[in-house]
Amino acid sequence: MMSSSLSAVSYLGATILFILSLGGLSNPETSRRGNLYGMIGMTIAVLATVFGPRVTMAGLPWIIGAMLVGGSIGLYAARKVQMTQMPELVALMHSLVGLAACLVGYANYIDPIASLNLSSAEKAIHEIEVYVGILIGAVTFSGSLIAFGKLAGKIGGKPLLLPARHWLNLIGLLVVIVFGYQFLHAVTTDAGMTALTVMTIIALLFGIHMVMAIGGADMPVVVSMLNSYSGWAAAATGFMLNNDLLIVTGALVGSSGAILSYIMCRAMNRNFISVIAGGFGSGGGAPARKSGDDAQPAGEVTPISAAETAELLREAKNVIIVPGYGMAVAQAQHAVYEITQVLREKEINVRFGIHPVAGRMPGHMNVLLAEAKVPYDIVMEMDEINEDFPDTDVAIVIGANDIVNPAAQEEPGSPIAGMPVLEVWKAKTSIMMKRSMASGYAGVDNPLFYKENNRMLFGDAKKMLDEVLAVLKE
Ligand code: NDP
Repeated sequence: MMSSSLSAVSYLGATILFILSLGGLSNPETSRRGNLYGMIGMTIAVLATVFGPRVTMAGLPWIIGAMLVGGSIGLYAARKVQMTQMPELVALMHSLVGLAACLVGYANYIDPIASLNLSSAEKAIHEIEVYVGILIGAVTFSGSLIAFGKLAGKIGGKPLLLPARHWLNLIGLLVVIVFGYQFLHAVTTDAGMTALTVMTIIALLFGIHMVMAIGGADMPVVVSMLNSYSGWAAAATGFMLNNDLLIVTGALVGSSGAILSYIMCRAMNRNFISVIAGGFGSGGGAPARKSGDDAQPAGEVTPISAAETAELLREAKNVIIVPGYGMAVAQAQHAVYEITQVLREKEINVRFGIHPVAGRMPGHMNVLLAEAKVPYDIVMEMDEINEDFPDTDVAIVIGANDIVNPAAQEEPGSPIAGMPVLEVWKAKTSIMMKRSMASGYAGVDNPLFYKENNRMLFGDAKKMLDEVLAVLKE
């Protein structure tokens, strides 16, 4: 077993590695290194905890057994998960962090040793830690489960707006405060347990209500917000267990998740408080068709063939590719890369336009393009490239929909009104590659389909891109 000073040094080393990891993850070029730092840091953290001074020899087999079971499930899930299911898996993992915080909280409360030898002030602080820890954990747990359901398509994207929802939330908050007071002043463990249980039920309902009230288009903010919550839940667990590393790591995750939520809100031109209060992404807009429907077009659209697309690309000087969730579904990133290479060999200026909420998780498109080895210097953020569409010959949209929807600018009543979008319709020709006339995740019809300079290339993105590539290579 490790001495306490070696354990403290290991914790410090792990903390530094986690900070370096976050630094690395902020840029695609350094993200692999960032991941590596994170993995080394986590290995050190786990070893220093398991073999640290606070684990007894008798407890070791239990911990190793639990690690083997948990590790095997995690390994199996990570190997089996499709790239398109990644966001759901992440949401599910966030829910587990919340659940862990709840369980640790209850265990801590009923464990007589946890509050042994504490002065009355220390005991009060300990109980506040338990109460707040369970509160954050329960909201994270149920909210993440609903987010999982929404991302997996098991729960519809339409927001559930209860009539007096703000009042319900307010009453919930007051009840939590009142029971918090009772909990701190409870004379018996049973009375404390009752207060804790009532608060947990309210927190669980609040988590469900909060995420259910959020419309499809605002889900990215919720995903990053729950990411942040899971960090605070871990930090709360750290306080309950008196584990400094868990406090620091939780705070790092919590604050970076909060920054990400802010970035997502800015990207979507939303007010954070309004998103959380719910109600965005509801009502208004044209009726939408669900993804995968083979619904008939509602206006005049101009279809285009793969061969014609190849011809347009070949004659272009400037091309911008806009990838979206459909590229991930079709696993078309390698075909995209090959086409990019062929076009670049013909001295055509090819660049990528990445919307901050493209796909189903932050950085989704960057990960896929990096996997396909697309050079980073031609992958541009929305703000860097949006002004260049008027000078672009062909803007080719691969399985994206909401992020190129002009309704965000043209229809004030649309659920996505005000959200910045990639202005592909300003290019000489835009080509939308998708399977049908279905709407995107936000469930809003897209007027881009019917624009005069837009062409629809119907079909699976991978299949269509392979056909385009074959013609380009002829
Ligand atoms: P969208 O969901 O708006 O559109 C994707 C389109 O891809 C669909 O319309 C679908 O049309 C098409 N598609 C699906 N499969 C294929 C395929 N095999 N081949 C070709 N096309 C395909 O995605 P965007 O990336 O444009 O926008 C992201 C949306 O997701 C936004 O609303 C965002 O708010 C939301 N979101 C984003 C998160 C994030 O963190 N990035 C998290 C949660 C939600 P069809 O069925 O006709 O093929």
